[in-house]
Amino acid sequence: MTKRIKYDPDNIFAKILRGDMPCVKICEDDDILAFMDIFPQSKGHSLVIPKRAKATMIFDIDPDELSGLTLGVQKVAKAIDKALEPDGVRIVQFNGSESGQTIFHIHFHIIPVYAGAPVRPHAGGAPADTAVLTEIAAKIAAAL
Ligand code: 5GP
Repeated sequence: MTKRIKYDPDNIFAKILRGDMPCVKICEDDDILAFMDIFPQSKGHSLVIPKRAKATMIFDIDPDELSGLTLGVQKVAKAIDKALEPDGVRIVQFNGSESGQTIFHIHFHIIPVYAGAPVRPHAGGAPADTAVLTEIAAKIAAAL
């Protein structure tokens, strides 16, 4: 069974939600915040997180909050598809460190995939340039 982890209110995404850490925001509503992944696996790699849920994984999020989260994922994925015109879009959600999860505030990855451009490894490498991420986020936001 996947090892459960107690929600830590000081995880990176909780800090971003409180404004204690910066992020390159795409959009937000009552339910979700969408922002650029700082170690993008491809151009436009975005994260969508619930604003209210204090959930670490799919197992412990309230169904209504999950519903708001997945609707937000669909909205942002559509905007990414329109703005960046990838050849495909990968949507990923990890549960537990054994699966690859590194931040324990439930979230979805939206990873555009481009023909001939391999998707880079998960959660590694050098952080992306903030100015570049800001430009991409603005393009996605304009397509919402
Ligand atoms: P997980 O491994 O939990 O599924 O995904 C966490 C994601 O958060 C990774 O893709 C990683 O690149 C990203 N990440 C880690 N630290 C930060 C940060 O400080 N800001 C942003 N925007 N993304 C981060």
